[in-house]
Amino acid sequence: MAAYGNDLDSRRQVVAAIRSLVAKGLTSGTSGNVSVHCGDGAMLITPTGVAPDRLEPEHIVFMSRDGEWGEDQLAPSSEWHMHADIYRNKAGAEAVVHCHSPYATILACAHKPIPPLHYMLAASGSCEIPLADYATFGTQALSDAALMALDSSLACLLANHGQLATGDNLEDALKLAELVEEIAHWYWGVLAMGAEPKLLSNEQMDEVLTAFATYGQQSK
Ligand code: 13P
Ligand code: ZN
Repeated sequence: MAAYGNDLDSRRQVVAAIRSLVAKGLTSGTSGNVSVHCGDGAMLITPTGVAPDRLEPEHIVFMSRDGEWGEDQLAPSSEWHMHADIYRNKAGAEAVVHCHSPYATILACAHKPIPPLHYMLAASGSCEIPLADYATFGTQALSDAALMALDSSLACLLANHGQLATGDNLEDALKLAELVEEIAHWYWGVLAMGAEPKLLSNEQMDEVLTAFATYGQQSK
């Protein structure tokens, strides 16, 4: 059974998630959007153009796999194609977070994917946070570009736009968005020093990926 459904608790979790992006300084105004997968490609997604502090659980939009939503609902996020395409195509993705966090967006504006300059980057499941090609916000073209970039990673930068993070639950997707911003900040700092980052090798990153498999409290 899907972890999320068209119910009050899931709606509350989506509201709390987008509010936490504001609280952590990862987004502002009406930028950014959050969704959870309700199974079979259906999802709950934030409505377009509503500031998080005005958002109530009943404003969250339930959208079917075919991209339809009820007339009694608000219009969904303009980026619904991007969220829906991830659930339709990326196994294991059950939550999606998109935001314009400052340092990730700086790198996205400079068209700089994030190389393996810190071991924590392996939490993205890859050795690089890739950069999706630029396309106008809210378009199928942006969704196509994002999906291509996410082929090898759980997160990506969106050129001249921001970042996108996925997870097998909302907490993990939020944590990854926060981590992408943190690593983007480190990379920006190294570049701002005028230094070349000393990158970790594929072997070193593979070792980290192996170590991550047993890191932390393992359930017995
Ligand atoms: P929405 O308000 O439509 O979700 O758009 C915000 C955004 O970040 C577009 O990329
Ligand atoms: Zn955006």
